[in-house]
Amino acid sequence: MNQNIFLVHHVKPVKIVRHDKTMKTTPIIGLEVHVELKTKSKMFCGCSADHFHVEANTHTCPVCLGLPGALPVPNKTACEWCVKLGLALGCSINEESFFERKNYFYPDLAKGYQITQLQKPFAVNGKLDIDGHEIRINRAHMEEDTGKSVHVDGSTLLDFNRSGVPLVEIVSEPDLISALEAKKYLNKLQQIIRYIEVSDADIEKGSMRCEPTVNVKIETDSGEVVYTPLAEIKNVASLTGVMNAIDFEIKRQIDQYQSDGVAKNSTNKTTRGWDADKNQTFLQREKEGSADYRYFPEPDIPPITFTKVQVEEIRKTLPELPDQKITKYKSLSLSDYDANLLAQDSVFSSAFEKALNNSANLLNGAIRTALNENQSEIDLNKINATHFQDIFSKKSELSSTAIKQLTLESYNSGTNPLTFAKDNNLFQVSDTGALEQFAKEVIEANPKAIEDYRKNPLAIGFLVGQLMKVSKGSANPQTGKEILEKLLK
Ligand SMILES: [Zn+2]
Repeated sequence: MNQNIFLVHHVKPVKIVRHDKTMKTTPIIGLEVHVELKTKSKMFCGCSADHFHVEANTHTCPVCLGLPGALPVPNKTACEWCVKLGLALGCSINEESFFERKNYFYPDLAKGYQITQLQKPFAVNGKLDIDGHEIRINRAHMEEDTGKSVHVDGSTLLDFNRSGVPLVEIVSEPDLISALEAKKYLNKLQQIIRYIEVSDADIEKGSMRCEPTVNVKIETDSGEVVYTPLAEIKNVASLTGVMNAIDFEIKRQIDQYQSDGVAKNSTNKTTRGWDADKNQTFLQREKEGSADYRYFPEPDIPPITFTKVQVEEIRKTLPELPDQKITKYKSLSLSDYDANLLAQDSVFSSAFEKALNNSANLLNGAIRTALNENQSEIDLNKINATHFQDIFSKKSELSSTAIKQLTLESYNSGTNPLTFAKDNNLFQVSDTGALEQFAKEVIEANPKAIEDYRKNPLAIGFLVGQLMKVSKGSANPQTGKEILEKLLK
């Protein structure tokens, strides 16, 4: 008897889904990213902006508590950093900007409104290149953070330390087409923000927060083009979460369309929360339109002007950015992979450039000088990168003369520099025991020089010279000097 037939007989009929074979779907993803600036003080008052692991409500004042009559004064550094970030993202800077009030009620928003920018933000129309795909940036505007609601045992406690911390909101156009691309966009944004040192941009700590907006363009087999309703996803607290939430939402919207065949106008935006434990989004509310916030210009803060000259001054403070570094590294014949990896964070790329500098010093300092003297051309085959590496690794134990000598030996005869240094006693003695022995000899043999030193500390130079002589040039002069000074105290 065939058991399979028996089982199939009991399976419930499956609902036939529409369009599942020939339907073409394209995700449309935008990202709103909030970045907390690491200025010392808050956006509109002098309170410390540090709120991470700080005792609740200790960094507050009438301004950030929203008490009646308190007047906000914009933080100049924060405004300049917002402009700087805008410039790093290729934005244009509005010559005149102003703040506006966004009115809504929430317990952690004591004033009943948030000071933000709507019509005239500091920075507009930027872009980020993600693997050759240009993602347009609509704006980077300045605003203030809210306080924090802490839920404990069924009650809600409020902490206003975060209230008024400077926040830059970076809004992309919905140009991203996959969760992976969104992740790359966030990574790159984070990289740039860290390069220009305006924020830690730490997603886990909340100094960088992102809200994806997702819907899907559906081209049906009959040639019809429809869009699923737009969903904005809140409470995503990690990069993986962003990717999972986007993937979940894309699938959910397609499934929804397949089951009911209804695609609403994409301007109907709903807000959905992200439940990281269940790995799914859930409906929070049908979103109120922007008119409901009754935006109007903030009457307590005059418009802010950034002249072209001021903008150029800020542009000059920008460091070399990741994309520029990658181009530079590739022009040095590095692979795409290595160039990208090196440019990933500024500390790493600095280390690489230091190593490059060291190589340049060896090449120019020792080899070029010798070549010039002999009037000969450089022979690339005689440059041994491993030998250079060896020399750097022992740099602190070698005098600059020895470094030159070793570089030349490697170039001229191919000799391993470390072997050569050892055979010729070129390593400096930094061992304090041995140096102390030399120093004692010097002190005993030079009573007159010691007297001179007591009158004039600069006379230590002579004693160091003697110590170098006694050690037959092997002592590390700096450590030797320190030991002599210690013994003579
Ligand atoms: Zn304050």
